[in-house]
Amino acid sequence: MIENADLRSQIAVLKKELLESNKEREILRKENIKLKSKEELKKVLSTETPKTKWGGYTFGKSEQIHCIKCWESKGVKTPLTCKSSSISYCPLCEKDIPRG
Ligand SMILES: [Zn+2]
Repeated sequence: MIENADLRSQIAVLKKELLESNKEREILRKENIKLKSKEELKKVLSTETPKTKWGGYTFGKSEQIHCIKCWESKGVKTPLTCKSSSISYCPLCEKDIPRG
């Protein structure tokens, strides 16, 4: 026969342990998501080799010029807009890019 007080303290301990393990699981879950997105990014980076054109990058058979900085730093393909015959513009970096 277990004393009521004993039982209550045992429940309290179990509750605390449960809370701790939930927290740990949440941290692990977030770490996992981070790792997965890194891997996805690596996959994308390795399968798509950009070509340099007019101071930007083109991918595959498309002639669209993309921002080098966005791709190198974030893995994001940002299509450059044409500002003039010699200058492109990246809307994400908010920078002019000379057509080299
Ligand atoms: Zn950019």
